[in-house]
Amino acid sequence: MTSLFALVDCNNFYASCERVFRPDLEGKPVVVLSNNDGCIIALSNEAKAIGIKMGSPYFKLKELLAKEGVTVFSSNYELYGDMSRRVVRTLQQFTPNLEVYSIDESFLDLGDFYKKDIHTYASTIKKTVKQWTGIPVAVGVAPTKTLAKVANRLSKKSEKAKGVLVLTDEHHIQEALKRTKVGDVWGIGGRYAKKLNNLNILTAWDLRNVTNAFAKKHLSVVGLRTVKELRGEACIDLEIMPPAKQSICVSRSFGNILTRLSDLEEALANHTVKCAAKLRKQKSCASVVTVFLMTNRFTEQNYYYSRTLSLDSPTSSELEILQRVRKALKEMYTEGQRYKKAGIILSDIVPASQVQLSLLNSHHVERDIKLMHTLDSLRAKYGNDVVSCGVQSKEGLWKFLEEHRSPRYTTRIDEIPIVRC
Ligand SMILES: [Mg+2]
Repeated sequence: MTSLFALVDCNNFYASCERVFRPDLEGKPVVVLSNNDGCIIALSNEAKAIGIKMGSPYFKLKELLAKEGVTVFSSNYELYGDMSRRVVRTLQQFTPNLEVYSIDESFLDLGDFYKKDIHTYASTIKKTVKQWTGIPVAVGVAPTKTLAKVANRLSKKSEKAKGVLVLTDEHHIQEALKRTKVGDVWGIGGRYAKKLNNLNILTAWDLRNVTNAFAKKHLSVVGLRTVKELRGEACIDLEIMPPAKQSICVSRSFGNILTRLSDLEEALANHTVKCAAKLRKQKSCASVVTVFLMTNRFTEQNYYYSRTLSLDSPTSSELEILQRVRKALKEMYTEGQRYKKAGIILSDIVPASQVQLSLLNSHHVERDIKLMHTLDSLRAKYGNDVVSCGVQSKEGLWKFLEEHRSPRYTTRIDEIPIVRC
């Protein structure tokens, strides 16, 4: 039987998450800002209609946004992450074979999981996600992942489709490909799009009709896979279990310029705890930690400093890692420097199950594993701030700007919405 994939993509995801808890903003322009309230990273359709562009710096648009009555939010990743998990859990009702492609997109293998009418099934997915989570989504269905992407894109543009488009019929596939610019095809980046345009390949339909030899020559083997997918030949499988990351990084710009060692220590302790938690979540241990500091690249000549240290044995203990981080920081820190950003990178990552305990430190390692397990369960139950390392702090000069952040409605007990009658 032929394969059938759905791509479910949340509409204007960050803006939609904000609107779930602010129904008064339905139909009104909303924008979300990047870390430190830097630039615009998400817009509602109404904000797009005013002519506001993705990526514009916030400070340049402040007046315009106020004049047009646009509601501005700082990014609230805790909320978006939780809403994303809710959407995924809902989608899992429809098939066990699901790939979480990004925070707001999932591929579903619908192969055996629909009865008779696929369009009805896709509409039910859309309706159920909206009903259970409040998030509007678009659903594109087709025999390959690349075609499902095409279908999803068009489902949002077409009045008739209303967010659900099934491309299984050859005639419909042709029409859709003719209406899709080659640069909008999944996997064809800006550079390739330009090259293809110069070769007079302007639409996805043109691309589908090139020979295999042409695709291989101009677009490499990966491009050939894309061309085959456009022809309806499924070449890209679902990645149901994402591969464990080979390095994990946490870095942030500070809300203020930092000069004191103690402020940098605080910031890096918070980064370390986050990084180690990510490591434990994917059940891995790291053997190497890199700490980096940055000053302002526009005003200072040397702006990037880093130190890499190895850990005694592969670990996921925030306490172990933090010791090295503090050592690296002390070695790098120079009084009088004005620091703007800091980060941690954990690398040389191995599965926790493969870590050999050395005879000398096994007692100490086992104790740390138990301690981290306890910390993880306490934090899962009572929130991340319930237990922390001595050097961490909740508030500090390093905290980035988030003047317009909404409450973390779904993950903090003291921030849940209150209904008043
Ligand atoms: Mg989206």
